[in-house]
Amino acid sequence: MEIITAVKGFKDILPPETDKWRYIEDTAKDVFRAFGYSEIRVPLLEKTELFRRGIGESTDIVEKEMYTFLDRGEESLTLRPEATASVIRAYVEHTLHAVESVTKLYTIGPMFRRDRPQKGRYRQFHQIDVEILGPDDPHIDAELLLMVIHFLGRFGLKNLNLEINSLGCLECRPAFREAVVQFLHGSEEELCGDCRRRIDTNPLRVFDCKMEKCREIITKAPRLMDFICVSCREHFAQVIACLTLFEIPYAVNPNMVRGLDYYTRTTFEVTTEFLGAQNAILGGGRYDHLVRDLGGPDVSGIGFAIGMERLAALIPEQAKNAAEGPFLFIAALGEKAVDKAFSLCNRLRMKGVRVEMDYHSRSLKSQMKKADKLNSAFALILGEREIEENRALLRNMRASTQEEISLDEFEETIMKIAR
Ligand code: AMP
Repeated sequence: MEIITAVKGFKDILPPETDKWRYIEDTAKDVFRAFGYSEIRVPLLEKTELFRRGIGESTDIVEKEMYTFLDRGEESLTLRPEATASVIRAYVEHTLHAVESVTKLYTIGPMFRRDRPQKGRYRQFHQIDVEILGPDDPHIDAELLLMVIHFLGRFGLKNLNLEINSLGCLECRPAFREAVVQFLHGSEEELCGDCRRRIDTNPLRVFDCKMEKCREIITKAPRLMDFICVSCREHFAQVIACLTLFEIPYAVNPNMVRGLDYYTRTTFEVTTEFLGAQNAILGGGRYDHLVRDLGGPDVSGIGFAIGMERLAALIPEQAKNAAEGPFLFIAALGEKAVDKAFSLCNRLRMKGVRVEMDYHSRSLKSQMKKADKLNSAFALILGEREIEENRALLRNMRASTQEEISLDEFEETIMKIAR
């Protein structure tokens, strides 16, 4: 019979790759705890209006990439293309701003964008999303950036490029926008259809265009850095000063505007040449009006999202903790030995020790091969005679030594060495 395959752009994540994913998530939770974050879990499905208002009507995501449908022909719903809008919706809906003056949240999960699938770009992909809500103090931007770099450093990743820019604020951006509109009208004939249409609706989005010709034109466009007001300039300078204090290398990229409308002031991306065309590991920035635009109070925010697939692709196989393998493999020979091994194995598992065995009762040689393949630290060899004499052979797989132990004291011995 014909097999049913997964939907295009939706990918299974199989073991042992899943071990690497868990390793990434555990490391993230560990780092985020130290920096004072709490986890939030938000739904995968939201009212379409949330993303239209949050991300912006004329962004690529909202215009072309959302999985939107009418629920029973009544309400328009969308599978979330990113997490920030949902996190802010929850923050406003549950008045979390009344609980703390600074709220630090993270969430990990799948996002959905109907983009053209290719290596490193999927229609369901996963993000680690981090948000700080509170004042717009530049130390908060710097703290977030420090944490990102520290987090990536935990995986020993090298050759990462941190690119940073300021998008200014509502005070200074209109003048920049006007200059960009004038500039774009000057080259209108050469722009792609999308960009031509966006000149008047959302000119900054032209900076995101992937078309060769548009990219070339945009290199000559006015630069936001030349328009930003004194307070944005000072804000940016303080963020940079904190990065310098921690000796974090960065490059200012004045053309980086990011693909979402809600960003203000600090924006950033981390890229690496090891990922090919889809070279961004993470992106983020400050959004000083999003909370208000979604009906909340005047609270600023800053956040970032890391692409899990891309981060996992950069982490070498040996870095994952699953390489440790089980603590003990029980090789049982004969029916009675299998029964005994079954109860020993499951009792130890309930005490938290990672134990494996093989119910097929194959030869000792093939079972020891399996213990080796699983990278087990110890192996217990249990045959019919051992059961009769109430003893077994415990082999240290790393040191290649073995000793005979009494089955009466077996659990106690294992618990002692497993600790
Ligand atoms: P964005 O939400 O577009 O700022 O993306 C943040 C990060 O998510 C990017 O730097 C990528 O690592 C990852 N990402 C975004 N879109 C995709 C996709 N379609 N497939 C895989 N990863 C993605």
